[in-house]
Amino acid sequence: SNIIAIVGRPNVGKSTFFNRLVQRREAIVDSVSGVTRDRNYGKSEWNGKEFSVIDTGGYIKGSEDVFEAEIRRQVELAIDEADAIVFVVDVEEGITPMDAEVAKLLRKVTKPIIVAVNKVDNAKRENDALEFYNLGLGEYITFSAMSGSGTGELLDKVVEVLPELPPVDE
Ligand code: GDP
Repeated sequence: SNIIAIVGRPNVGKSTFFNRLVQRREAIVDSVSGVTRDRNYGKSEWNGKEFSVIDTGGYIKGSEDVFEAEIRRQVELAIDEADAIVFVVDVEEGITPMDAEVAKLLRKVTKPIIVAVNKVDNAKRENDALEFYNLGLGEYITFSAMSGSGTGELLDKVVEVLPELPPVDE
């Protein structure tokens, strides 16, 4: 099936979104030394369309440089493997330098990218989200991974951009 990768810096709410999406985890894979939680993988479905989801966790202890390299590695892996990428950012923090770095990597990618502005828990934050146009990745979708509001619209968009797969011969 199609693969969706959830990317973004730590604390934006990737895991919260992943857990909402995926009821049953398949495995925790790709363990690198020192990494407590690296990537979560699971299956999900929306509007009758099935897809796999990779949550690129990527926590690593070490210097800022190591940390940035790790985020970069996660994003590059996701770009390679995924059919569509959900780039999660956080309206509470706005655009951080690390978000800008990730956006720079993603701007070179031809695969579908959806910018998902998380933690939009109230109307004021809807307004705050406007700054994410500055990522240079076009339209964004606002949602709250915590409450679930907006996740329907986000998933509508996700399945809309997924490539049609040829039917599987039985
Ligand atoms: P990750 O590191 O990107 O996987 O982020 P987590 O899913 O671990 O979430 C980081 C923090 O943000 C946690 O304390 C979450 O409870 C919080 N969080 C996640 N989604 C939301 C949201 O929609 N609204 C608010 N206010 N907090 C959220």
